[in-house]
Amino acid sequence: MSDQQEFDLIVIGAGSGGVRLARMSAEKGARVAVVESRYLGGTCVNVGCVPKKLFVYGSHAGEDIEDAEGYGWSLPKEQVRFDWARLVANKNAEIERLNGIYRRMLENAGVTIIEGNATLADAGTVVVGDQHYSTGHITVATGSWPVIPDVPGKEYILSSNEMFYLPQLPRQAVVWGGGYIAVEFAGILAGLGVETTLLYRGDLFLRGFDGDIRRFMAEEMQKRGVNLRFNASIESVENVDTGYHVQVSDGSRIVTGLVMAATGRRALVDGLGLESLGIDMTESGHISTDRHFQTSVPAITAIGDVIGTSQLTPVALGQGTVLSRRLFGDGQGEMDYNSIPTAVFCQPNIGTVGLTEEEARKAGHRLRIYRSEFKPMKHTLSGRDERALMKLVVDDRSDRVLGAHMVGPDAGEITQGLAIAIKAGATKAQFDSTVGIHPTSAEEFVTMREPVSPPS
Ligand code: NDP
Repeated sequence: MSDQQEFDLIVIGAGSGGVRLARMSAEKGARVAVVESRYLGGTCVNVGCVPKKLFVYGSHAGEDIEDAEGYGWSLPKEQVRFDWARLVANKNAEIERLNGIYRRMLENAGVTIIEGNATLADAGTVVVGDQHYSTGHITVATGSWPVIPDVPGKEYILSSNEMFYLPQLPRQAVVWGGGYIAVEFAGILAGLGVETTLLYRGDLFLRGFDGDIRRFMAEEMQKRGVNLRFNASIESVENVDTGYHVQVSDGSRIVTGLVMAATGRRALVDGLGLESLGIDMTESGHISTDRHFQTSVPAITAIGDVIGTSQLTPVALGQGTVLSRRLFGDGQGEMDYNSIPTAVFCQPNIGTVGLTEEEARKAGHRLRIYRSEFKPMKHTLSGRDERALMKLVVDDRSDRVLGAHMVGPDAGEITQGLAIAIKAGATKAQFDSTVGIHPTSAEEFVTMREPVSPPS
């Protein structure tokens, strides 16, 4: 064992939340170390948001080339080629650049980066390899990891982690799941010309999103050639010479070149030694914390995916900021989880903020629903059969806009601004008195005048 080191804070995990907390705390004068066993930047930078979005751009570029035809450009089909290896290499170079930025950001703030697997020896000691580091406070920010259900042939099923480094694209793929990752990857693969089947165990995918958005998205994905099969799950996967045989719960069998599961993510707490410290866990396997991120052990806090709040980078960033203030700032502030906007980068995108119609009804609101469905202007000349949907959920009594939902190009970009209005408590009258930006799709949000039916 070597010399003990003294820190005020050791953060375990250099993902979005951990890096934010470490950097802000060091900037406030705290002596901070961050322990990371894999890559700087966590899931978001390495195998999540960032490379996913780059793949979505790559996938959509094929459509853009086709759409240009209606605008006078010609590119003979036989000359259009896609090189998967180049996309992956360029993506990897960008991720490396970001890893470097994260390293410099931490080092410039004075944070010590410790590479390796951390174990919590006690509430004030972290062990990495044969080194013991003592600290006033520990924060666990280790994130989450994909879960693949236990089925025969599970070893042949890839998770999103491996999809980012796939050596080559298959001709056909099966994507298992019906959440964010499944629809995003089904879109990426289909856009790149892979014959894609999505299997979801329930009646309709994207559980938790507004019902109109879910139905509309299913239609749009089918138009793009994704074979959607609901009430269907994988029972087993067999490796054969030509690829994989997937046994589906409805009795059918699919022959495919790749099987990917996007069936949720679990808290990543392996090897931390949380049990021996007596840290309480939730039923879902996340670290149990109070609203100040305090675990059941004093001097140990936890933030990010590992505590089971929304698994979203901006949520982890917000938690890191709030916790840093609590530990080394004025001690004030709480994370506000109301009206968290989110986007799903399927094609077209989904953007959503606030209550869905179903949630608002369940909460007892009498509602006015405004809905607009149209062909985005771009496709008048491109000829593409793509439509957009926008929807406002309005409380009839107060006139407050409770939720805004959209399927369409740039839905994520559009929803961010709407989120400010909804968080500020904007009324439908205020939406109506806002001047639109013409011609955009977004202006529909301020020009929907008639509810789809009388208030109910
Ligand atoms: P989700 O929890 O969103 O979806 C999991 C899906 O798998 C659901 O459709 C679920 O079905 C299904 N499923 C779960 N267990 C099984 C099982 N045993 N057999 C068959 N199907 C199963 O997880 P993801 O993996 O898609 O993503 C994890 C999280 O990462 C997201 O919730 C999100 O917070 C975050 N994320 C955010 C993104 C963004 O902001 N754009 C992008 C990607 C991820 P059911 O609905 O019936 O439970």
